[in-house]
Amino acid sequence: MGYELFGNVSYVAQTKIGEFVEHLKRGQLMGTKCEKCQTVYFPPRADCPKCLVDKMEWVKVNGDAILVTFTEVNFAPTGFEAPYILALGRLNSGQQVFARMAKDIPFDKLKVGMKVKLAPISLRDDRVAYEFNLP
Ligand SMILES: [Zn+2]
Repeated sequence: MGYELFGNVSYVAQTKIGEFVEHLKRGQLMGTKCEKCQTVYFPPRADCPKCLVDKMEWVKVNGDAILVTFTEVNFAPTGFEAPYILALGRLNSGQQVFARMAKDIPFDKLKVGMKVKLAPISLRDDRVAYEFNLP
């Protein structure tokens, strides 16, 4: 299984972080950690931009986050069904992540600074992604 099962439309099948999809399928939010500088990346990166090395290991990422900002998207790219809410959250471990909010959360329930939780989700046709939800 490769990266072609990430999201509603995936533009690449091969990537150095293809294992990410398998982790999501198991319900695990995983990032990568640079073995040299210990920086944890989410979404995962195959190479550390600080150290310019590819010695990375998979680490579990806690999805607890704070909502930094959000907006309603009314015109969506291929694979995204508008309208949806795009959110920027800051994980408690420091990484900032863009993701959709869960569809059942109304726009007027959201407030900058509130707690949200990033979690894996299943899509049609055995595909996976991640989204923010309420904790
Ligand atoms: Zn590094």
